[in-house]
Amino acid sequence: MNVILLGPPGAGKGTQAKRLESHYGLKQISTGDMLRAEVAAGTPIGLQARELMEKGQFVPDPIMVQMIENRITEADCAQGFILDGFPRTESQAFALDSMLKRKNLKIDVVILLEVDEEALVERLAGRQNDDGSRRADDKPEVVRSRLEVYQAQTAPILPYYEQGGRLKRVDGMQDVGTVGKHIDGLLKEAKASGYEA
Ligand code: AMP
Repeated sequence: MNVILLGPPGAGKGTQAKRLESHYGLKQISTGDMLRAEVAAGTPIGLQARELMEKGQFVPDPIMVQMIENRITEADCAQGFILDGFPRTESQAFALDSMLKRKNLKIDVVILLEVDEEALVERLAGRQNDDGSRRADDKPEVVRSRLEVYQAQTAPILPYYEQGGRLKRVDGMQDVGTVGKHIDGLLKEAKASGYEA
């Protein structure tokens, strides 16, 4: 089962992806985490991504598409994967489907976490990593521009998934457990409607 989690920054994609990873053995693929690792390691991709990420802007599509293509073909994705933070543009969404088609794979369900944007700014202002550190791009002024970029570049991909009948909406303002149960129901539904493992 292959899942996409969509939603603006701070909607809870990472939290829900981690839950799905432990409950279903699906692999979380967080492009944000992958990019932060590239930045920390000082790789050529990291050097290119760093400034863009600090401003809340997107890393170029070809880099992201290649990164995903490499990642989903690794052995730990064989049971399925959860894309968290990808696709983020129409071009990424189209490239993903054609890449999966070539590999005889598909996305079974696309889950949109719907949240109130004003609440997100507050949520992200208080967000901490497990070690108590904070992300540089969670500063309120960068959060605002990340939300604008989401509306301009990511929201336009929703009709594509809606038309294909794959988009399911979940109220992401509920508590983590309730959102998780709702997502469980959607995975069950997707399974019943005939995905092939
Ligand atoms: P995230 O942790 O998902 O909020 O991602 C943090 C930052 O990484 C984003 O603000 C972008 O700068 C970059 N990023 C992550 N995923 C993508 C993507 N699919 N396309 C372009 N940039 C991305």
